[in-house]
Amino acid sequence: MTETLHQFCERSLDQIRENDLHRTLRLIESPQSAVIRINGKEYKNFSSNDYLGLANHPELKDRAVHAAHSGGVGAGASPLISGYHESLEKLQLELARLKGTESALVFNSGYSTSIGTITSLFGSQDILIIDKLCHASLIDGARNSGAKLRVFRHNDLLDLEKKLQWARSIGNQDPNDTVRHIGVIAESIYSMDGDSSPLSQMVDLKNSYGAWLLIDEAHSTGLFGEDGRGYIQSLGLSDEVEIQMGTLGKALGCSGGFIAGSNRLIDFLVNSARSFIFSTAPSPIVCSAATAAVQIIQSNEGKMLRKNLGENIDTFYKSIPEKWKQKSESMEPGLHLHEGVMSPILPWWVGTPEKAIQLSNLLMDHGFFVPAIRFPTVPKNTSRLRITISASHATDTVQDLAGTLIQCHEKLKRES
Ligand code: PMP
Repeated sequence: MTETLHQFCERSLDQIRENDLHRTLRLIESPQSAVIRINGKEYKNFSSNDYLGLANHPELKDRAVHAAHSGGVGAGASPLISGYHESLEKLQLELARLKGTESALVFNSGYSTSIGTITSLFGSQDILIIDKLCHASLIDGARNSGAKLRVFRHNDLLDLEKKLQWARSIGNQDPNDTVRHIGVIAESIYSMDGDSSPLSQMVDLKNSYGAWLLIDEAHSTGLFGEDGRGYIQSLGLSDEVEIQMGTLGKALGCSGGFIAGSNRLIDFLVNSARSFIFSTAPSPIVCSAATAAVQIIQSNEGKMLRKNLGENIDTFYKSIPEKWKQKSESMEPGLHLHEGVMSPILPWWVGTPEKAIQLSNLLMDHGFFVPAIRFPTVPKNTSRLRITISASHATDTVQDLAGTLIQCHEKLKRES
């Protein structure tokens, strides 16, 4: 018997529910900020990527309103038709200046940046080697490109080198030398673990094997480096990473994504990245607000926000007793931090999806909003609370969260 669409959806949803993986949209009734309103109740918000508190910043809002009056609401067309407007050009210039590259290209989202960039640069004759914990958009881009795909263990340089050796050997063995290019894809700060990648060594490796490097700075733009230029810049590697990606929806408080690179790279993407070519250009409102954000992160205010953020991260870390701080290889519950730089993303491992939801709900009862992150966003059995700290949190709120989190976790442990 033919299954109806309705039956198919119901059967699939039953399966998702059985695995404790069903999700629903939650209506947020206030702007993004340190406190958000859900169902008429206020919660201290530790769920957002608005690390510097710019999403509801008065300057960004003023620029957005001004842009709507002067430039209109919509871009009206894709950039190559008639949607390339002044606010978009200005944003691209500001981003190139921030990143110290010749050019930058803005897409509607980070997701479409990954997809468009990777699928236009790599194809079936190429090899892509990607870190195991890369964001879904990078994985989808790599899969959709049709390139031969290899995954290296998270931040494991030996494994990366093994895969690079293999990629080169294929190129050498093939009489037609059909492997054209090798690409390595990683993030500078990982979205679910908050740890940094060993970028200097990765640059050495990709240079030794003649590969190209794409680094997604979604969670480091605005936060690391001089004036928030990013983690790549903080290590002095701006000239070494061929394809630098960033997003506008996290520390920059808006929405969108971008690639910063050479004039030739950007020209090529303009002519080949389908998610750029076949999509209405970002609106003047978003572009103007994002330009204000790029300017703020380079100002004294930006420095102060990064200082506040650093102090808040430090406060949280110090408020967690040592017994709850786990080594990166451990599977024990608690705060899982890797060696390297501290970021505002602090993963609190719980284990099963069910337990992660219980802990998240209990924290909600205490007025804290910290969502449970489950498979497929993170590997199975590493369900966690993804705690994100912002410059806009008050110090005592951060301390309160640490105390309440431990109380709630211990309560659940006693009851289980
Ligand atoms: N890359 C990374 C590392 C991300 O974490 C995200 C979003 N969570 C994206 C890309 C996609 O960005 P956007 O939300 O702008 O689509």
